[in-house]
Amino acid sequence: MDQRAAEISYGIPDELLTPAISWTMYSFRKAWNEAKAVAAPWWAEYSKEAYASGLTQLATALKNWRDSRSGKRTGQAVGFPRFKLKRKTIKSCRFTTGTIGCDDRYAVLPRIGRVRLHETPASKLLDGTARIMAATIRFERGRWFVSFTVEQNMHAQAPNRPEAVVGLDLGIKSLAIVAESGGALLTVPNPKHLEASLRKLGRLSRRVALRVGPDSRGDRVPSKRWKRANAQRNRVHYRVAYQRADALHKFTTAVAGEYGTVVVEDLNVVGMLKNRQLARRIGDAGFGEIRRQLRYKTEWNGGRLVVADRWFPSSKTCSGCGVVKAKLLLSERDYACESCGLVMDRDENAARNLAALAVAASGAETLNGRGADQKTRAAGQVAVKRLPGSPECETGTALPGAVSV
Ligand SMILES: [Zn+2]
Repeated sequence: MDQRAAEISYGIPDELLTPAISWTMYSFRKAWNEAKAVAAPWWAEYSKEAYASGLTQLATALKNWRDSRSGKRTGQAVGFPRFKLKRKTIKSCRFTTGTIGCDDRYAVLPRIGRVRLHETPASKLLDGTARIMAATIRFERGRWFVSFTVEQNMHAQAPNRPEAVVGLDLGIKSLAIVAESGGALLTVPNPKHLEASLRKLGRLSRRVALRVGPDSRGDRVPSKRWKRANAQRNRVHYRVAYQRADALHKFTTAVAGEYGTVVVEDLNVVGMLKNRQLARRIGDAGFGEIRRQLRYKTEWNGGRLVVADRWFPSSKTCSGCGVVKAKLLLSERDYACESCGLVMDRDENAARNLAALAVAASGAETLNGRGADQKTRAAGQVAVKRLPGSPECETGTALPGAVSV
């Protein structure tokens, strides 16, 4: 691209310009195969997948950039692809062809061969119910990982209570408040894994900081003492990450297996992480991940996920009478309604509004703000029949760690 731009600036006619390459993986591969003998004479020493996965990612990155610029891709603006730094990037490679497989002790990868595993793979990989399509290897936090992309027949499933509608209010104090449209309420406490390990992490981080590590340019060789201390710190990070992943999966699996319709809020997680006082705890709670998991798990279980619009006033609306407050401070932990006198925990009120939203709405996936607003008011009238905050709770719901209120 630079060469062509320079040639155009010299006034070279179009037919004499260096030919442009189309931005597809196939044309990148073709160009690479023509250039590799000169550009990288060592190319034959490594698997072709190492180059192919880089070129695939480049094609994706360029497409994302182009779509983002033309407005075809929504969300945060995507920049032009940059070169990766070897010492900073998470090293990974995806194998799509060749002999890929695993048994309970070893993974088999093309060119690399048999690799001993620390963990036993999922049973569906071993009993042959899932067919392996690709394998991705990755080096992260001092360990090598392999993950398999599989194809598997899914049986049609139904949640335990297909008719049940629940609203989830994700919070910090408790991980989630689960409000059923029938009135039952469950609180799932926040496990706060990171906070539990924070003191230990601080101590190990200080130790790492005092030893001779690599500098930002990567010129200085880290000392053995630094490497040892860094490995100790990585183990804590690693443990926190897995505790969190485990808790979130258990929670989302239980919710998707139990209820037919799950309503969550479209939280602006990126924006919320900018609040530095809340960032660590929001990151630890994994809000974005909960929604991602619920999306595919409700689909697998034959349920439905409804994402309320970002501007749906779930906290400001009264779940009793439907009146919307103009202002509700973050410090006001209880919702007090001036028109009907309802006093309720703030998060419980929000969760009840979300549940009512789905009861009122038809099958729309995402509800727009204005429509949602009107529908909630209609649902609010339904909710009045129920005594607000009454202890008419069922304890039969099988959510791990959930406390019935
Ligand atoms: Zn009210």
